[in-house]
Amino acid sequence: MSDDHCVRCGACCAAFRVDFHRSELAGTTVGGVPDVMTVPVTGALVRMRGTDEGPPRCVALAGEIGVRAHCTIYSNRPSPCRDFAPYAALGIGEDACDRARVRHGLPPLQP
Ligand code: SF4
Ligand code: SF4
Repeated sequence: MSDDHCVRCGACCAAFRVDFHRSELAGTTVGGVPDVMTVPVTGALVRMRGTDEGPPRCVALAGEIGVRAHCTIYSNRPSPCRDFAPYAALGIGEDACDRARVRHGLPPLQP
């Protein structure tokens, strides 16, 4: 999830697996992702808890998708979330953002 324009969305946080290197965990680095919000994937990788459930929803997501939603660990979110659809906050989407929105019955952002 990005910011501003995304506050009425949150769809990407309930659409995809979110995996990242365990070096981003709070137990490893200052300002990292809370360890308890993750599950192990491999020796090197962890996953945001809830993102591989059916239906997926990241444990850190609060609010109602498509109405008002926010990441409760926004300043400490992992790199896949920081890198995802960087212009969505400006109203400019991309394929993965649009796929997530459509999955939740929301229209794609303007290209
Ligand atoms: S799916 Fe797109 S618009 Fe919705 S929160 Fe994610 S980045 Fe923002
Ligand atoms: S950590 Fe935050 S930004 Fe990343 S998927 Fe979870 S709720 Fe979304």
